[in-house]
Amino acid sequence: MGDYFERIIDLEVPLQDAGPLADRMVDWLVAEGVLLRETSGDGVYSLGVDEGHLPGPNWERAVHGTPGTTWPPAAMAVIVARDDHLGGQGESEADSATCPRCGTRTVIIDYPESFEADEEAWRPFSEAIDRWKETGEADAPCPACQTSSPVTEWDFGDNFDLGALAFDFWGWPPLADAFYEEFTRRLGHRTARQSGKF
Ligand SMILES: [Zn+2]
Repeated sequence: MGDYFERIIDLEVPLQDAGPLADRMVDWLVAEGVLLRETSGDGVYSLGVDEGHLPGPNWERAVHGTPGTTWPPAAMAVIVARDDHLGGQGESEADSATCPRCGTRTVIIDYPESFEADEEAWRPFSEAIDRWKETGEADAPCPACQTSSPVTEWDFGDNFDLGALAFDFWGWPPLADAFYEEFTRRLGHRTARQSGKF
């Protein structure tokens, strides 16, 4: 079914807590039979992660559709690192950045006029994201209200999210909303959902 993924990103967990939290989530998914402990690299293309957990006997509990009408998934990879997670297909910038203080949306990629990022508009954000990846903290200034806010509080639109923990479901049928809600509840943080192609 092609090399596509669905991703759940924890938007709040600090990096030092991300590993233990990931272990608890995998324990839960293995106990539910959604995943196996066993890992495989087949069909896994997550950045910096070569392997994921194979689907378990009850993987259909996690997805839309009635049993037998979906297709068997590949593995689920866990990414523990501060990262800018992108869905879609191969973009490397957000299309916009919305200020958490004043709500002004700064356009980065002016669809459909352009499919290229406005480098000057994007630079302060990409620099802040780089600092956040290194240190866990960085502010980005708003061109409208001049207030600087933590880069993790900015809204970069669909398919661009910052987080220290992400779960990549490679080749899975669409995840069920109830599964996503339970997943989020167990993480105990705000999450984002993405899909995309390798
Ligand atoms: Zn603002």
